[in-house]
Amino acid sequence: MFDMPSTALLMLITGLTGIGSLPPYPAPIASARAGQVVDVTPTLQLVVRGGTDRRTLQLAGLAMPTETSAATTARTALWQLVRGEAIRWQPHGDRTVLAFREPDGLCLNLELIRQGAFAADPAAARVLPALAAYEAHARERGVGRWHRPGDSPAGSEAEVYITRTGTRYHRGACPHVRESGRPIPLAEAAARLKPCNRCKPPAPQLSTELSTGRNSPKRATGDP
Ligand SMILES: [Zn+2]
Repeated sequence: MFDMPSTALLMLITGLTGIGSLPPYPAPIASARAGQVVDVTPTLQLVVRGGTDRRTLQLAGLAMPTETSAATTARTALWQLVRGEAIRWQPHGDRTVLAFREPDGLCLNLELIRQGAFAADPAAARVLPALAAYEAHARERGVGRWHRPGDSPAGSEAEVYITRTGTRYHRGACPHVRESGRPIPLAEAAARLKPCNRCKPPAPQLSTELSTGRNSPKRATGDP
């Protein structure tokens, strides 16, 4: 199993993010190996180079998509998270690993489930209990493979990323959020931060409704 943060830290994290229903990401163990991701194979394994060593890692807890389109989506999501990035990994389950992006410690296994890029592997629930909660969270929001045409808003647009000290909010793929980015609801971010000029994240739907309500001043006067 993995080391869990202290209860105090857990309370701090859940208080900050407002996603108290989700268990926090685990932290890598001290003996976790380190390397750089140089490729993602069509069978969704990470190709990692560390010094002269080159190896292929299978992430624990992810159900491999059977449809071609789902596999392509999953591979893209995985590649976007780790392209050229340093990661740490530790054995977890049967010939599979838990992997963490450096330096922010993002747990790739759980993040991919959270984004809806993969379904959780039911057989892995025993070794990684948090999987079920993360998949339920993704299904609830209708993101990734759980998105149904006609869903509104698209779940992936209802959530953006912020950093600890920045004054702007971002898309998940923005280079500015690599160091300390964490996801929060779009409405919450837009209430106190400006959108990033570089990645141009979406604006909340609420402001769109307000700005298109051209007759609202008349209604605001209280006319019958
Ligand atoms: Zn940005």
